[in-house]
Amino acid sequence: MNALAATRSAFEVTELEPVLARSVTVLGSTGSIGVSTLDVVSHARKAYGEHVMPVEAITAQGRVDDLIKQAREIKPKLAVIGDDKLYAQLKDGLAGTGIEVAAGRKAVIEAAARPSSTVMVAIMGAAALEPALAAVARSATVALANKECIVAAGGVFHKALSASTAAVIPVDSEHNAVFQVLNGEGAHEVEKVILTASGGPFRDKTLEEMAIATVEQAVAHPNWSMGAKISVDSATLMNKGLELIEAHFLFALPPEKLDVLVHPQSIVHCLVSYEDGTTLAHLSAPDMRTPIAHALAWPRRISSPSRRLDLAAVGQLNFRKPDHERFRCLGLAMEAMRVGKLAPTILNAANEIAVDAFLNRRIGFLDIPRVVETTLSESPEANTAADTLDGVLAADARARERAGEICRRVVN
Ligand code: NAD
Ligand code: MG
Repeated sequence: MNALAATRSAFEVTELEPVLARSVTVLGSTGSIGVSTLDVVSHARKAYGEHVMPVEAITAQGRVDDLIKQAREIKPKLAVIGDDKLYAQLKDGLAGTGIEVAAGRKAVIEAAARPSSTVMVAIMGAAALEPALAAVARSATVALANKECIVAAGGVFHKALSASTAAVIPVDSEHNAVFQVLNGEGAHEVEKVILTASGGPFRDKTLEEMAIATVEQAVAHPNWSMGAKISVDSATLMNKGLELIEAHFLFALPPEKLDVLVHPQSIVHCLVSYEDGTTLAHLSAPDMRTPIAHALAWPRRISSPSRRLDLAAVGQLNFRKPDHERFRCLGLAMEAMRVGKLAPTILNAANEIAVDAFLNRRIGFLDIPRVVETTLSESPEANTAADTLDGVLAADARARERAGEICRRVVN
């Protein structure tokens, strides 16, 4: 190595050192994002040394064997299983390792409250809300993959953020892309932020085909490998609706500045247009390890094991407007964003119940928008302010109950 290269690499190591020394907590470590996060951590340890990215805690809800395996490999200080019936199994599985163990919903929240630099919030659904708020309250850097907690409680989240010095780095690929394009400039001169959607597995299917869609067809996403719930959300386009609301809260953008374009290749993740006519785009191969690595190292960049973009192999990038007739969830989410208050909370809760009923083969694919729409129309409190955590949690619980009844009604 010549002198210049040696100086440069020493410089890079010192510059990166504080970033690599950051400790990480991964909430929802056994899920799709959680596994990808631990993959980024393992890759960093291979690339920069076994001591980097120490892991404070990992948590999971159910798959205790996976959690045990992960803990043995990644060596966190603490492993938590959300389902307390699995405590003994976790304890046995990690006996003799020196890793602390805990169980239950409160223990997941406590894991988020333990001192670590960064908390990756990769729990599925609104269940992530309280753990995420615990990380915000202690001013951690919150790498936020979960979108449901922002949709369900955007106002509460904002209040908590302004009372702390926490930073939120979005991990959802489109929002991570917008975050990178805006680069801290704020959204004042922005005319439009467009989030792209692959269109999901039913992009080119007819309503008749969608009516008889199976769970297997709905979760078979063409470009991304994800958990079951978000895969169904991608098939209904509710995912993009939730993402519009997420962007509305994260970047303080009014609904009229937000839009969606269908882009089947999932290469361009966002387009940001400015008042002077400039449009900036963010491109990467569809691999969540890229935004995860970005969020863990921000404002620096680290090596990531993610797939690289090969535009010559992709060949073409196509864009078209979404079809609101076949994908009614998108319009329902846009309307909830415009109404604000508790409407997004109720939309999200009803959707979680409807998707769960579909995954358990209790309702059909096109019943999902029906259940969401009916729950919203039967919830007069949608027009009530959503400014306290208790208010949001109560509305969420009521909407789940109502949506459950409506699921039973649609099949009878
Ligand atoms: P997943 O279903 O694969 O994993 C969810 C994880 O959360 C698991 O570890 C599970 O044990 C845990 N969990 C589930 N319910 C829980 C509860 N009640 N309490 C505590 N932990 C619980 O989900 P995923 O696909 O990894 O998605 C996680 C979040 O990230 C979702 O909010 C999703 O919208 C968002 N997201 C995912 C992707 C992706 O590519 N998978 C992309 C963007 C955003
Ligand atoms: Mg996304």
